[in-house]
Amino acid sequence: MPTYEYECLKCSHKFEASQGITAPPLKKCPLCGKAVKRLISAGAGIIFKGSGFYATDYRSKGYQESAKSENVSCSAATKACSSSGCPKAK
Ligand SMILES: [Zn+2]
Repeated sequence: MPTYEYECLKCSHKFEASQGITAPPLKKCPLCGKAVKRLISAGAGIIFKGSGFYATDYRSKGYQESAKSENVSCSAATKACSSSGCPKAK
């Protein structure tokens, strides 16, 4: 059963509730009784908030580009490659 995270729009109180997927979302804050909004939590398996997603994506893209450029330079220069970590270096 997934755990959903809620945040109160009035008092900013955060709490979690285990609910079935088909269960209706909670609408009231347990503290003040005002409206709450449901947050996307890690328990749901989908993470869109935070900078981690972008950092990972950027790192992965940069790695692919550097690996690609190394391959190009290696195939062009058959004798030696200046890239550190290249099997043809030295
Ligand atoms: Zn509240």
